Amino acid sequence: MKPYNFVPILGAKKYVKSHELKSGKVRVSIEVVTPVHIFSGYYNENGSTVYREFAKYNGKYIIPGSSLKGCARAIAESVSRSCISTKQDIRKIGKDIKDQNDCIICDMFGSLGKKSRLRFTDLVLVKNSGVDIINIPAFYGPKPENKNYYDADGKFKGVKFYNHGDVNIIEKGTIPCEFVMPGSIFEGDVFFDDLDDNELDLLCFSLGLSGDIYLKLGYGKPAYYGSVKVKSIDDDIDALKRANRYGENDGDVAKNVKRLKELLSWDKRHTKSVWHTVNNQRGY
Ligand SMILES: [Zn+2]
Repeated sequence: MKPYNFVPILGAKKYVKSHELKSGKVRVSIEVVTPVHIFSGYYNENGSTVYREFAKYNGKYIIPGSSLKGCARAIAESVSRSCISTKQDIRKIGKDIKDQNDCIICDMFGSLGKKSRLRFTDLVLVKNSGVDIINIPAFYGPKPENKNYYDADGKFKGVKFYNHGDVNIIEKGTIPCEFVMPGSIFEGDVFFDDLDDNELDLLCFSLGLSGDIYLKLGYGKPAYYGSVKVKSIDDDIDALKRANRYGENDGDVAKNVKRLKELLSWDKRHTKSVWHTVNNQRGY
């Protein structure tokens, strides 16, 4: 058993947009559920320990808007008729030159030569429940040639998501990183420009505002780090209702929504690590 699974790709379709468009913003809070590390790109020292520092702006801990946007995009791609090609290499998802550029995801999130209709501000730490240095396992980049990513016909399996797990099963290793600990809360805004109702529903769903899926941000996802609960704390678009109704008029989309919920629901989290020890090394 692996600490991840796939949501199958639905296939691309040109998006026909309604003429009734909305612009505005959703303010969100992000509650840390298992320790989160977003690498600032810098190292710091604590005695003899050199560790990877958490992202900061003006001395304050932040989750960069791009981090939440990337996570929301992956979710949105998995539950819509987006232009990810099944033949594509994992590292090139959404960046293929043959990309049609006219699917719902390109319209919302942007693509080559197409501006995003979404703007994510950085999310600032507003409640600090502790910061700690944790040694995490060394991770390796995605290996697209890995047979785990392809089905028996050699077709790309879909969008990959890591399972959540209880905080007491996080895997430890040798790489010291600065973590923001559970109970801490970040807040920030998501601005949207000229989305139709269906796109707005998809945005709310992909941000985890339905309340039953948690997102994963930052480092150590296979080792059960980075689980967060996202809530809308100020919006005038009824984000909760929108998130919950997304996909209900399209059977295939509804199927993927269900599959994603099985993967990312906190209720379905692992309570025992699926990692194992081989040659004195933990791995999965
Ligand atoms: Zn597209």
